Amino acid sequence: MKIHEFQSKEIFSRYSIPVTAEKVCYTTDEVLSAVQSLGMPVVIKAQVHAGGRGKAGGVKLAKTIEEAREAANKILGMDIKGYTVKKVLVAQGVKFNAEFYVGLTIDRNSKTVVFMASSEGGVEIEEVAKENPAAIHKFSIDPDLGMTSFLARKIAFKLFSDFSLVKQAVDLFQKLYQIFMDTDASLVEINPLVITDEGKLLALDAKMNFDDNAMYRQSAIEKLNEPTEDEKKEISAKESGLTYIRLDGSIGCMVNGAGLAMATMDVIKHFGGSPANFLDIGGSSNPQKVIEAMNLLLADKNVKVIMINIFGGITRCDDVARGLIVALDEMKVDIPIVIRLSGTNAEEGLRIIAERNLPTVNSLSDAAQLAIKLCENCSEN
Ligand code: GDP
Ligand code: MN
Repeated sequence: MKIHEFQSKEIFSRYSIPVTAEKVCYTTDEVLSAVQSLGMPVVIKAQVHAGGRGKAGGVKLAKTIEEAREAANKILGMDIKGYTVKKVLVAQGVKFNAEFYVGLTIDRNSKTVVFMASSEGGVEIEEVAKENPAAIHKFSIDPDLGMTSFLARKIAFKLFSDFSLVKQAVDLFQKLYQIFMDTDASLVEINPLVITDEGKLLALDAKMNFDDNAMYRQSAIEKLNEPTEDEKKEISAKESGLTYIRLDGSIGCMVNGAGLAMATMDVIKHFGGSPANFLDIGGSSNPQKVIEAMNLLLADKNVKVIMINIFGGITRCDDVARGLIVALDEMKVDIPIVIRLSGTNAEEGLRIIAERNLPTVNSLSDAAQLAIKLCENCSEN
């Protein structure tokens, strides 16, 4: 889960990490009144869940009211990597000479939190990582010891030689680590971290991502969630006991069991098709669940054919077949459906399906190939 820069900075402030004075605005008028209270110059920054806003034109310095108006008009409503800008942050403009990068993330190889630091921060940090990786210092943090002042000092000396800055950095790094741990973050980043004219460290930007699986114990963070349209569907699917993840393909899949759902997508890919989604409807034969699953698939305009793959273990295939029939009777489905039933009482299940003149197949390979064939047919029409 991602949050906005202004929300990350609110968390930073709570841990007394210095950030710029700023205000979130939704309209140009709000920007202009924020400018009155903050004073000139200001920086106007798009608040979207995407990085590289600066390069995309979503961060603008304004020295006059007129420039602020122009920047606000330009940035509000702008599209950045598929996100429409609905709000901007108006921040007090700051003068600085150098941009530093600091960030914390989880390194799955070392199975620790790593702290990254570089004196080559700024909008080109991705290029630095690619072309000059040695310029980014990395430190594993021992989970038992945490960010000790010894380690924080060692990192700080990589960036600064001035003692006052090192002292501020040690304090800042320890706080950042505390934030990372306290909020179940998967990423905490300041880019750029700058030195003001008064010689103070200041977080000019802030970025935080979180572990979705920890949100059950992070209710304050979870409240900040702004799901995309696709994520909204995934959340509502979850509420009705379905696990749904949208993909870009054209074959809508409905499967009982997560492992089988993965295998189904693999087999579709293997035969040259493309799955439109991952969908695990779980172990029940409840028609209501099938209806909800079907509605999810039908709502996706990319779906040209539906492939239902059920393996009956404890769930009996004849029960599932009856559930499917009830569901299909209740709704209008105007795209082809392929049904594969296998396992307990599969024969009875297939007989029930065949009675309704729905195409049935015996193997997963046959199902995938038939779905791909039907899909080609429907795209030709
Ligand atoms: P990002 O591109 O999404 O990472 O957005 P940032 O908030 O990091 O802004 C991009 C760049 O704009 C920064 O690296 C700075 O160079 C510049 N910038 C941001 N805020 C200020 C500011 O207050 N003063 C000045 N002079 N430049 C700023
Ligand atoms: Mn940045």
